Amino acid sequence: MTNPLYDRMLAGLKDQDRTFLTLADGSTLSGAAFHALAARQAGALAEAGLEPGDRVAVQVAKSPEALAIYAACVMSGVVLLPLNTAYTAAELEYFINDAKAGAVICDPAAQAEVSRIVGANGAQVMTLDKTGQGSFRTAWEAQPDTFAPVARKADDLAALLYTSGTTGRSKGAMLSQTNLISNAETLVDLWRFGPDDVLLHMLPIFHTHGLFVATNVILAAGASMIFLPAFDTAEALRLLPQSTSMMGVPTFYTRLLGDPAFGRDHVANMRVFISGSAPLLAETHVAFEERTGHRILERYGMTETNMNTSNPYDGERRAGTVGFPLPDVELKITDPESSATLPQGEVGIIEVRGPNVFQGYWNMPEKTAEELRDDGFFITGDLGQMDPDGYIQIVGRQKDLIITGGLNVYPKEIEMVLDDMPGVLESAVIGVPHPDFGEAVVGVLVADGDGPDMEAVQTAAAAQLAKFKQPKALRLLPELPRNTMGKVQKQKLRADFADLFSGS
Ligand code: AMP
Repeated sequence: MTNPLYDRMLAGLKDQDRTFLTLADGSTLSGAAFHALAARQAGALAEAGLEPGDRVAVQVAKSPEALAIYAACVMSGVVLLPLNTAYTAAELEYFINDAKAGAVICDPAAQAEVSRIVGANGAQVMTLDKTGQGSFRTAWEAQPDTFAPVARKADDLAALLYTSGTTGRSKGAMLSQTNLISNAETLVDLWRFGPDDVLLHMLPIFHTHGLFVATNVILAAGASMIFLPAFDTAEALRLLPQSTSMMGVPTFYTRLLGDPAFGRDHVANMRVFISGSAPLLAETHVAFEERTGHRILERYGMTETNMNTSNPYDGERRAGTVGFPLPDVELKITDPESSATLPQGEVGIIEVRGPNVFQGYWNMPEKTAEELRDDGFFITGDLGQMDPDGYIQIVGRQKDLIITGGLNVYPKEIEMVLDDMPGVLESAVIGVPHPDFGEAVVGVLVADGDGPDMEAVQTAAAAQLAKFKQPKALRLLPELPRNTMGKVQKQKLRADFADLFSGS
């Protein structure tokens, strides 16, 4: 029986005495210990009645036990559905119901609310807190530390990763075993990861960057990670000297640079700094090299495709670009209207094809058909161009996606919340430059009657939206600027409010 993802990523851990994870307090977990933990968890998932192909929704704090759930899913064939820890119960309901999750693993504090949500549909609710305690632990402790990995085919689903939805509805990107394996192997090669690498891991593990790019590269390389609950500048400075590599969102790099103590001593042992999930400002690239002597390696990817392009390891890492298409990824830039491939240098939609590209959106055949062409090219929705040397530049997003601190926010979802507030006629939500978050969410409101109580709007938004989605500023305008077709000119709003956070 074969299970390609297990065979390639996890089988090697089974007898590995070497450290796989080092935690903030210096304690370690060997590969074998991690494998045994995942095997027990796989047993617990099976015991809970989950069969291969069933979905388990997981909304828990980052911990070694939380990471092991990914490995347990691979072993048991259960499809992992990781969820942002910032999502509110109301937001959770959609994912659990849409995916028809057979089980939900959540923080003990959310148990009552999640039990209410799953209600009659019968999903089991188990708990796991940030220290690795909870009813899921009780369940796995009753299981043996070995588990025979179930047979899986290369195109069977490994994970369902939800993206943000333009109309407030998120789409579940179906990722197969092959999608994950092929991308990890390509990146290990390209970025030269080997068994002696130690990755400083400070990304969340509910998103593809921390979960698949970082973790799968380390697993495929037989390397290890220093595994921290979240990014923290002081912790990064303390642990960089023990690391060889780091993957981060641009905010990590601006925060490191914001600490005057950060310098060459901290990076003496470092081999590579990798950035992605949002545009890295060219000035950050330059400042980082000046301070550390390292040129950050920027790459570009997305939930649906894993990684698509990367700057070279040996060649020039060009600031403001995301480098070249990966060796097994075809990339073309097309005309949004005609879909014809554009000549080099012209701006158009980035389309990609390769073994990294997902299987389609869960339960949304019409959305899949709109974005995934019959010939296998995925229409990313990102606008880009290729420079004369073949480097790809992302010049914007076709839709008005906001990326704040590396997390995606679709304006429409926030606008729908703001539009419902008393005293608000309509709203437009935009992203404006922010020195710390890259972009900040700003809500522009038009008054209805006497107008809204801005403080009450802010409070109401906080009750309904995850923190990263809440507007960092609200502004009132007599009317929204519109073009002749009646479309709100967000470009103008962004220009008008561009300096809102320039002094902060
Ligand atoms: P997600 O699905 O959350 O990973 O978000 C994917 C989106 O993030 C892409 O479609 C891009 O718009 C954006 N993105 C990822 N990496 C980069 C990058 N290096 N530069 C600019 N945008 C990026």
